[in-house]
Amino acid sequence: MTILGFGEGAFRFALFVSIFLAMSLLEALMPRRERRFPRGRRWLTNLGILASDYLATLVVFVLVPVTATVAALWAEANAFGLFYWLGVPVWAQWILGIALLDFVIWGQHLITHKVPVLWRIHRVHHTDEDLDASSAIRFHPVEIVLSVFIKSAAVVLIGAPALVVVAFEALVNGSALFNHANLRLPPALDRVLRLVLVTPDMHRVHHSVYTLETNSNYGFALSVWDRLFRTYVPEPRDGHDNMRVGLIEWQDDKPTQLLWSLALPFRNPPQSRPDALDAEPPRT
Ligand SMILES: [Zn+2]
Repeated sequence: MTILGFGEGAFRFALFVSIFLAMSLLEALMPRRERRFPRGRRWLTNLGILASDYLATLVVFVLVPVTATVAALWAEANAFGLFYWLGVPVWAQWILGIALLDFVIWGQHLITHKVPVLWRIHRVHHTDEDLDASSAIRFHPVEIVLSVFIKSAAVVLIGAPALVVVAFEALVNGSALFNHANLRLPPALDRVLRLVLVTPDMHRVHHSVYTLETNSNYGFALSVWDRLFRTYVPEPRDGHDNMRVGLIEWQDDKPTQLLWSLALPFRNPPQSRPDALDAEPPRT
């Protein structure tokens, strides 16, 4: 399909590059935390993971030609899905479509933390020891391919129109680049934004080494799901400047290596987790 005169792939790529550059510029102007590793190696690795995601989705598409947009076009052509059956008006299809799809990926994210075999794959994302816009593209190819199928199934079930799906993907990708950014927003702006959207300070809590914080703030775009399902943690226990980011099992430079990161789902942690990381914080 064509968006603003571009093919869908070109539109998404142009949007990604623009937002990535904008976030990187803002990170340079108002950084939140000091970096532990130089940008170059991490960026190369995270971009390498993105390239392997692209290759994996291409190969899978040849075998099973499905994407969320293809699914939406099929649903449109066959008037299939809840929106068509219930006669939902177009304006409501936009609001409900984006909210429901965001809820689906919130649920998918939560499940990847709870099911051990899925956590093996998702922890590739969590091993990044600095957070910046490039962390938003650090997802193992298997997780990306799974997510294509889950989103496609959700789109068909909901009967979400193709334009809504494209807008949703743009929103989610843009907000992932934003909420992983190493960005110091004015506190008042953060407070207002996070009433609706997941902000960098809100999402950073999710990348803490503490289990209770890792298993919180699952949202990608909308902040409502974590508040509704009581998985919302407003601030990290140790504060944004002192908190440790990543997984305690791998606090060295291995996560900055591409092949190590791609093979991580098949590795066992080199050490057991200290109990203190899984404990509730002391009540004050
Ligand atoms: Zn996660």
